[in-house]
Formats: sequence, C-alpha cells, structure tokens
Amino acid sequence: MLLTDQEYIRFSRHIMLDEVGEAGQIAIKQAHILIVGMGGLGCAAAQYLAAAGIGQLTLIDHDNVEVSNLQRQILFTTEDVGGAKVTIAKNKLTAINPKVKINTFYQSVFDLNLTALMPKVDVVLDCTDNIDTRYFINYTCLKAKRKLVSASAIQGQGQLISFDFAQKGSPCYQCLVPEKVSSTRNCSSLGVLSTLLGVMGSLQATEVLRLILNEYQILNQLLIFDAWQMSFKRLVLTADPECQCCKHPIKG
Ligand SMILES: [Zn+2]
Repeated sequence: MLLTDQEYIRFSRHIMLDEVGEAGQIAIKQAHILIVGMGGLGCAAAQYLAAAGIGQLTLIDHDNVEVSNLQRQILFTTEDVGGAKVTIAKNKLTAINPKVKINTFYQSVFDLNLTALMPKVDVVLDCTDNIDTRYFINYTCLKAKRKLVSASAIQGQGQLISFDFAQKGSPCYQCLVPEKVSSTRNCSSLGVLSTLLGVMGSLQATEVLRLILNEYQILNQLLIFDAWQMSFKRLVLTADPECQCCKHPIKG
C-alpha cells in the first residue's frame, strides 16, 4: 500500500517525523481501531484518530446524546441532542477525514458478538464508564490476544493503561482492579472536569499511534493524571497470580 499525493500533503507533518515517516503513515492507514463508548473519552480519541489518518474505526455505543453530555463530549452540539451518538459521531468524523472507513454499532457491547470482531481490529479502546463493561472488554481482549488501551476519568483524576495480550505473562485490567468497585462511582454520580476527558482521550489516541508505530511501547504502566495538581504519576503493574481473569478464569 502506498500513500496518494493528497495523503502526502495531508499527513506531511507526520511524515517529516523520524518516528513516523512514510512507512509509519502507511501503518496508520492500515490500522483498524475499535472504540467502545462514545462519551467524553471516545469523542476526543476518535477525532484525533480520524484526523491522524487511521484507516478504519469501529464505534460501539447504545446511547443517545443528552444535554448533560455537551459539557465534555465535544463531537456533539446542541442540535444533536436526542440523536444516536454513533451516527452523529460517524458524520462528524467523516467530515474531518472522508477517507476513514467507519463502522457503527448502535447497541450495547453485551448485545453484539465482540469476540467475532476481535480478529479484525488492531487495538481496542475502552472508553466506557462502568466496571462490568470494563471487565467484559478486558476479558474479550485477553482471550483474543489483542492490544487494549483503557482510560477513565472521574472528578479531577484520570487513569490510563495499555496492555498487549499477545505478550506472555501480561497483566490485565482485572489485576489492577480486582474487586468490582461500586457501580455508582462514575461521572454521572460524582462529576468530572470537562477538559479531563479531552486529556485522557487524547492520551488514548497517542497510545494507539505509539502501538501502531511499534517501537514506542510502554505497556502495563498505570499513568495517573491529576488535573487539579497538574501532575502525572506512573506505576508499574505486574500480573496478579490470584487474578480471576488472566490467572484463574472462572469457567462458563
Ligand atoms: Zn489479570
């Protein structure tokens, strides 16, 4: 696969980077990224991935746009209220870059065959906001040996971690969060700073580009961003020998 003359112009600021170059931009063009959740994280990540020249995006979300989303879900405008998030997102992303192939699923991730999608995608972005969905995505990616970039944001604190389950002995999301925390601990009950979603979603998109470009992988490290302190902290995660997901999966 080569780049067209138009793509050389469009992505010239990428191509001139030693870390990307022509081969890197072609790798970005060949990539297929799955985004689960088109809230604040998904909106920010998807915009950058479309602009950066990702070849194919698959978006999963069963929600419609609500007025209270507009504070942080920057793909949506006031007139989009009531519409399906994935459909509106597809239109906006196509306007940014018409060359991106965008597939949408207007349904819950539990209602579709996520396992069947796995072999088709290179990296999965978890942009959801509840623990049951996070466990499910983590388990499905682990089983399929996919790469997973998981982010979350509550109040003024964001977290980011990437896994490559093709690597032997990789820890998983459940090693990090072994017990289901209360399902009421999310943005709708505790609030979240608008721009924090933009920071964390952009970091997820950055992780995707780094994973595609291959040489810049920093896996299994939890990055914690505190918006009020304007500080980043990094913690190394090792596999939990007691983990109910990657070490002792419950059968059935
Ligand atoms: Zn685990």
